[in-house]
Amino acid sequence: MSSLQVKGHIFNIQSYSIHDGPGIRSTVFVKGCPLNCLWCQNPESKKTQPELMFYAQKCVRCGTCAKVCPVQAVHYEIGEHPVTDRSACSACSVCVTACPSEAREIVGKTVTVLEVLEEVKKDKLFMDGSGGGMTISGGEPLMQPEFTANLFAAAQEEGIHTAIETCNFASRDVVKQVYEHVDLAICDIKHMDSAIHKKLTGVPNEQILDNICYIRNELGKPMMIRTPVVPGYNGDLENIERTALYIRDHLGTDVIYGLLPYHRLGESKSGNLELTDYELHVTPPDDSYMLQCVEAVEKYGVKAQIGG
Ligand code: SF4
Ligand code: SF4
Repeated sequence: MSSLQVKGHIFNIQSYSIHDGPGIRSTVFVKGCPLNCLWCQNPESKKTQPELMFYAQKCVRCGTCAKVCPVQAVHYEIGEHPVTDRSACSACSVCVTACPSEAREIVGKTVTVLEVLEEVKKDKLFMDGSGGGMTISGGEPLMQPEFTANLFAAAQEEGIHTAIETCNFASRDVVKQVYEHVDLAICDIKHMDSAIHKKLTGVPNEQILDNICYIRNELGKPMMIRTPVVPGYNGDLENIERTALYIRDHLGTDVIYGLLPYHRLGESKSGNLELTDYELHVTPPDDSYMLQCVEAVEKYGVKAQIGG
């Protein structure tokens, strides 16, 4: 099979993005993640397979979805919002087409490297003019190494700058394969204490930190480290300072530390997936706390920025 025909699972391609790397970028969001962060901002990215989203505010409570569903996955009572049994739903999209008010949508599709590349290339003029490029984010790009590696290689061949936004929870072989065609590594460190990291994300952090050191020190990749600042979970100054020290001592002070203030988007998206296990009800950190974090980092000689 040609490398351009390798298939991957994505849920979005965002054009004209000014996040996730320098300049104007096209960000490809892959679907599927090995972590299960309590604060996940993209819960629709966790599973690899397509999923049904339900937008309650658009629903006119007509019950059509329940009538048309071929596997009777939708429970409907007159005057109420429908409730979908997610274990029965096959994401066939019959109800999406039938819904009169666009209250239902399937997120996630399978695409080839070539299809994504053609889409990304449409913005090449803006990328070139702004020093931008293509970022693969997620979900977790390293979960689909064949697709991610081939898409990076194809983009570089077109003269497109490449960045990966990743948690780096992967084997060394996968890291070697994917990073061959990466120009900028944007790496998450979610907590410095491995036991707490496991509690918050489902996995320990040793392999992640080990990979980050390898990518920076052995592969010599330009790097940015990022932490989502979630008050009450990982956003305390002690953890932020420990991360700054780690950057200084293991990665070097030319690695910028991006501090991402927690926001509530994940909460509403979990509602759209009709998930009942989203337990995080946190007040996002305010500007003055974020500035305190920046000061705490910079006293170790590491450059910090708010946002990524
Ligand atoms: S996507 Fe298909 S299976 Fe799922 S609720 Fe709609 S009609 Fe039923
Ligand atoms: S078909 Fe659409 S508008 Fe009607 S009940 Fe289902 S989700 Fe709501």
